[in-house]
Amino acid sequence: MTMTADFIVVGAGSAGCIAAAELARREAGSVLLLEAGPTDNSPLVKMPFGLVWMMRSQRRDWRYQSTPQKHLGGRRLNVTRGRMVGGSGSINSMVWFRGRTDDFDNWQLPGWSWGDVAPAFDAIEARLTPRRMKGAHPLTEALHSLFAEHGTTPPTPEHESAGVFAFNMVDGRRRSAADGFIKPAPAGLTLVTGQEVDQVMFESDVARGIRLVGGSELRAHKGVVLSAGAIGSPSILMRSGIGPRADLEALGIDLRHDAEEVGANLHDHPAAGLHFAGPGSGYGLTPAQMPGWALAPFQYLMARKGRFASPTVEGGVFFNARGLNEAPDVQSHFIPFMLGWQGKRYVYGSGYFADVGVCRPKSRGALRLTSKDPQAAPAIDLGLFNDSSDLETLVAGLKRLRVLMEEVDFGPRHAPEAFPGVAVQSDSALRDHIRDRGATAYHPVGTLRMGDGSNAPVTSRLSARGVQGLWVADASVMPAVTSANTNAPSMMIGYRAGEIIAEDCA
Ligand SMILES: Cc1cc2nc3c(=O)[nH]c(=O)nc-3n(C[C@H](O)[C@H](O)[C@H](O)COP(=O)(O)OP(=O)(O)OC[C@H]3O[C@@H](n4cnc5c(N)ncnc54)[C@H](O)[C@@H]3O)c2cc1C
Repeated sequence: MTMTADFIVVGAGSAGCIAAAELARREAGSVLLLEAGPTDNSPLVKMPFGLVWMMRSQRRDWRYQSTPQKHLGGRRLNVTRGRMVGGSGSINSMVWFRGRTDDFDNWQLPGWSWGDVAPAFDAIEARLTPRRMKGAHPLTEALHSLFAEHGTTPPTPEHESAGVFAFNMVDGRRRSAADGFIKPAPAGLTLVTGQEVDQVMFESDVARGIRLVGGSELRAHKGVVLSAGAIGSPSILMRSGIGPRADLEALGIDLRHDAEEVGANLHDHPAAGLHFAGPGSGYGLTPAQMPGWALAPFQYLMARKGRFASPTVEGGVFFNARGLNEAPDVQSHFIPFMLGWQGKRYVYGSGYFADVGVCRPKSRGALRLTSKDPQAAPAIDLGLFNDSSDLETLVAGLKRLRVLMEEVDFGPRHAPEAFPGVAVQSDSALRDHIRDRGATAYHPVGTLRMGDGSNAPVTSRLSARGVQGLWVADASVMPAVTSANTNAPSMMIGYRAGEIIAEDCA
């Protein structure tokens, strides 16, 4: 490739599509958006239920795994990450939450308070039009019976609430950041797929372009924006010589800037769940439901309805794990489908599933390179339950989730808990359940945290510390994860990046 541009944006994911589009729309200069994966032109990307097949896809998932997790019996967890236009936002469940207003205020960073970020959310929502899901399963609708005073409005992390969530779907189809911002691409923006970036190229300490896997180099006259996500961006930065000195030297990478915290502060929402099973409850594989499954493709194609229009997660609950009269500290996702707990992909029966995840986890892990070879997967230590208070919150959350699931007016669709089962009652038995089954909500953040102190890898103007002409715009810059799902906040970071970089380069 021999293209050049004013800006090169690396990664056409949730944040990258919007950062690139906003730079172009604001006429900050020409923009080249490079994506390692293919396009998102696949019916399985657009159809909400398609994510069941997209996850672990050879072509469209990076298929990362964590390091063995010390507090999960040494298990490795899947770290699913979208590898295509739209990024993880093309593989996700499309649950739409901005987060809590004080998530942003608590970052305590100029330009990132709730008042600063709300207009960016407004602008994104004007394009993506997230709405309460239509056609949710009656089980999911029944969640509104929990805190009935809120009616049928979607729940919010601001207070205890339950029900059908809002999703960035329109007429039963995914509407990702790519759909909303780069289709069609604004003037001045060029998207190129199938181009995996190895590292950033510098002249003195000024970023002047990138090197692709394979060795070609592309020039950026004004600078480079890393939007490769919480796993990809710190990896590229370290291969470019910006990271912890000892780690880089051990791998034979020339040090450009010693930045101890690159890759540190990795965290995610830890979660564990309860399975319910019983005849006539949720979607599942039973003789009575076979006609429903046989009709599903036609129902979807003709009317964009039915079980293939479901993103599997349809709703949930925000609550305080210990029942205190305080803000919710856990989020539950409700899936009105029979999910097997026996380790098989397809299981017989009808049922539903609800998990509980810690909204503001305290545990921190770290991401490290294992090699300077750009195609070697990094070591992803999620650090789950390094802080034991996260585990205790989940134990309390599972106990209260059980009570809440009995309180919901599911009517004749109510099913008994099948796994781990009501015999698993004591705190220690629930800790064992979490150790054996716990996972994450696929919300890794924080590996290039923004901060005003000199140790933070990225400034509050999204500029990588120690060099010039290099910015980061994706979930990696969150100093602390927001209290709910992270797609909308990642997009907001992309939008703010467009504003900030255009201003700073004017
Ligand atoms: C299975 C799953 C379900 C989820 N469900 C939800 C949900 O329902 N609601 C919600 O709010 N959040 C959800 N999330 C999380 C949400 O999707 C992410 O937080 C968000 O997409 C992160 O955005 P990002 O821009 O930081 O990274 P991404 O969207 O992952 O974008 C990074 C992009 O960079 C590309 N890239 C990486 N490395 C390179 C390289 N070297 N060269 C070129 N390109 C590169 C990637 O291929 C990708 O396209 C889910 C995530 C997953 C995986």
